[in-house]
Amino acid sequence: MDCLFCKIAAGDIPSRKIYEDDRVVAFHDVAPQAPVHFLVIPRQHISRLTDLTEDDRTLVGHIAYTAQRLAAELGCDEGFRLVMNCNELGGQTVFHIHMHVLGQRQLHWPPG
Ligand code: C5P
Repeated sequence: MDCLFCKIAAGDIPSRKIYEDDRVVAFHDVAPQAPVHFLVIPRQHISRLTDLTEDDRTLVGHIAYTAQRLAAELGCDEGFRLVMNCNELGGQTVFHIHMHVLGQRQLHWPPG
């Protein structure tokens, strides 16, 4: 499958990896929007949030758990934001689900 994030997860395309285990990989975003901006992706290819099945619920929980744990490790103790964009109108540009973690600056609401 020609998927950028599958290739990053497999190590076929280089990335600044922060963490990996048998289910997820976390790496710094190449175009950071905050002093801390990394992505947590599943190794399994899932194109968009609307493709999730009931069997994926534990995986999504693991993604969120990993995101907050790494945010703490990277010094985001005063706060951070988790974002998952879905489909074109939601701002998704890479069609392999991923959780953004943004921190170490004041974030505003609503997002653009
Ligand atoms: O949510 P969205 O699909 O727009 O986010 C994709 C993210 O993947 C962007 O923040 C982009 O900078 C990042 N990216 C990356 N490494 C790549 C290609 C995209 O970190 N090689």
